[in-house]
Amino acid sequence: MTSLYHPTRDELATLLHGEPRYRLDQLWTGLYTHFQRPADITTLPAAMRSRLAVELPESLVEVKRETSNTGDTVKFLWHLLEGQHPIETVLMYYDTRATVCVSTQAGCAMACGFCATGQAGFNRHLSTGEIVEQVVRAAREAATHSRRIDNIVFMGMGEPLANEPAVWGAVERIHDDIGISARHLTISTVGIVPGIRTLATRPLPVNLAVSLHAARNDLRNELVPINTRYPLEMLMQACRDYLHEKRRRVTFEWALIDSVNDTDQDAQELAELCFQLTPAAHVNLIPLNPTPGWPTVGSSPARVAAFQRILRNLGVNATTRQNRGTEIAAACGQLAAGQPVTVTPKPPRR
Ligand code: SAH
Repeated sequence: MTSLYHPTRDELATLLHGEPRYRLDQLWTGLYTHFQRPADITTLPAAMRSRLAVELPESLVEVKRETSNTGDTVKFLWHLLEGQHPIETVLMYYDTRATVCVSTQAGCAMACGFCATGQAGFNRHLSTGEIVEQVVRAAREAATHSRRIDNIVFMGMGEPLANEPAVWGAVERIHDDIGISARHLTISTVGIVPGIRTLATRPLPVNLAVSLHAARNDLRNELVPINTRYPLEMLMQACRDYLHEKRRRVTFEWALIDSVNDTDQDAQELAELCFQLTPAAHVNLIPLNPTPGWPTVGSSPARVAAFQRILRNLGVNATTRQNRGTEIAAACGQLAAGQPVTVTPKPPRR
């Protein structure tokens, strides 16, 4: 069974075979410009609306919608129509823009111990339609506050580059049909080197963010287990090649974990990696958010500030990510969609 936001325009044309051509335009505009359900696209005849509502059901069943105390972060919990797996999407309002953080897999197989999604394990890949629909459903919520969606970050549950074809399908749809430019689309990866290489061959220059968290292989092997398959040297080469191909600055994400990766020496090692790229990589520091399965805590605000200062003094462009929605478990690394998690007994210490 297909779902509402899965078919391409050509596939919908087949579904509307025999109807006047403008019906396809009306349907496409309703779906992608006005984010309407078929039943609400009143330019279409009633019989066609009811037929489409049955043939093209939405793929996300809303289970819960939570808003942070300040009202600027909304987390959606969905069940997938097929398989009933839970996934989450986060909508963040800023002063002048709004960002949607989408999931690309139900769960994740990368098993990073400090990430709640990794602690819960993998269910299945999401389809292009399931990814695009997250954006549309969030955009509908934003529209109720007269807000539009400006940025999409592929930073929710799952590893986007382990599901690259479906993710790329979503990127194209979001770019071509919803109309968000490539500079406002960011794919975050744990460092799947073949995926970065595929991305480099794709036509649109989307932003690449790499979840680094350690600048030495021994520590990174522990924090980000896929590093044993794609060690730092391979990863850095893939980043250099991506940058060369796309001319887009690469970002390194770094979750600051108390006494694990927040020392002066870590900052120094990270800066050296940043300067292996030209222009140098930008660093996005994320104070570690609490997750049920990981006992180690995040670095103190003073340590986060000190770490950022060291990087800046070394000439690295480093920012600290604002923490959003921790009280509704909507922050980075906290998306588990209510699933039980595996507890890591002994996180690394140095
Ligand atoms: N799998 C991709 C997409 C997820 S992005 C990736 O790893 O890049 C989510 C970001 O939050 C990643 O940078 C991830 O490393 C980071 N993260 C995971 N757990 C976290 C936690 N507990 N606190 C802060 N950041 C975390």
